[in-house]
Amino acid sequence: VIEADLVIRRIGQLATLAGPIPRTGPSMRDLGIIENACVAILDERIVHIGPDNECDAHVRALPESAVLEVDGAFVLPGLIDAHTHLAYVGDRDDEIRMRLAGRTYKEIAAAGGGIVKTVDATRGAGRDDLREAIVDRLDEMLLCGTTSAEIKSGYGLSTDAELRSLEAIRDAASVHPCKIVPTFMGAHDVPREHRANREAYIRLVCDEMIPEVGRRRLATFCDVFCEDGVFTVDETRQILQSAAAHGMKARVHADELGWTGGAEVAAELGARSADHLLFVSPAGMRALADAGTVATLLPSAAFFLRLGRFAPARELIKAGVPVAIATDANPAGGLSPSLPFAMAVACFGMGLSLEEAVTATTINAAYSLDIHETVGSLEVGKRADLIVLRSDRLLDLLRIGVGAIARVLKDGNTVVADGRRL
Ligand SMILES: [Zn+2]
Repeated sequence: VIEADLVIRRIGQLATLAGPIPRTGPSMRDLGIIENACVAILDERIVHIGPDNECDAHVRALPESAVLEVDGAFVLPGLIDAHTHLAYVGDRDDEIRMRLAGRTYKEIAAAGGGIVKTVDATRGAGRDDLREAIVDRLDEMLLCGTTSAEIKSGYGLSTDAELRSLEAIRDAASVHPCKIVPTFMGAHDVPREHRANREAYIRLVCDEMIPEVGRRRLATFCDVFCEDGVFTVDETRQILQSAAAHGMKARVHADELGWTGGAEVAAELGARSADHLLFVSPAGMRALADAGTVATLLPSAAFFLRLGRFAPARELIKAGVPVAIATDANPAGGLSPSLPFAMAVACFGMGLSLEEAVTATTINAAYSLDIHETVGSLEVGKRADLIVLRSDRLLDLLRIGVGAIARVLKDGNTVVADGRRL
């Protein structure tokens, strides 16, 4: 008999996501559903999952324990957002209005908008201001069911400002229930003061920022914006090799606005993830599949940036690439921090099935962040991170705006109930 301090009873359908990691091809549709289930939790972890009618025979509730009856509701793992840019202050509302008036991403950048505008504001912010901004954004994400998130630096673009951003991310992680994976992204753009001498900025990133981030263990991953007009394939390789030498794993912003070979270099370097991929080549898809690199797709970014197309999600799945979906939450192209919204755009814009979208925001997203051993599926031994829907219909999660989520648990604690952050 297993002891528990929380037992969730009368779950209509439980999506466990137990099975192969990462999911590729047809296995992306397998949610590992258990009907009429119960979940028992002790000390923040799952200790038992099984049929509800056998629960009393297997689980002994401790005297102070709680029982949560969910009346046939659908339950799934807490969502995992594998690509966000939360470490900033200020807004880019002017630019968003320009975009609505028909200007393109490149035209806006040429007019002085884009990442550098957020860099100006973020360089002027203190570590506490940044931490507060990040915590507020994590609270919004938690309300939408996100219990683990990657957060990138990349609006500092000087050694001091990048370190301050990463410290603020660490501070936010220490006070917020979400599990946070920090990523160093000094190569998010070339700052204005280095535009005349790009090589000097690459050296600053490789010879000063990366060694210091590595020495202080401030980041698990290093990410580079590999794109025409930002960083070339050769620069991306140089930066990520330097990061690897200082203990950071690789992710790449690849082939978003045009093909540059970002997917190919991500695969060559054994990056854990290649992100965006609107213009990925057939060779790039094969390389990602062979390397086991996750394609982290950001459909709401393509939607908000009005790019007029989406990444070829169906072809990536057919090629055997593990696909994850993330929000790209950021001040300009990632207006919605909601993973259910990203899932809705993935389904209705890219043609993912509902089950594939769930896999892409749970176990495959966990694998993309290398945290799949503790989160991303509901299995004995894993963290008790889960979402209880209001209804027995998984599809309700995609009815954006109606408040389909009844409750969010992180590490066995209820952190959202009745649409409010507790
Ligand atoms: Zn991004």
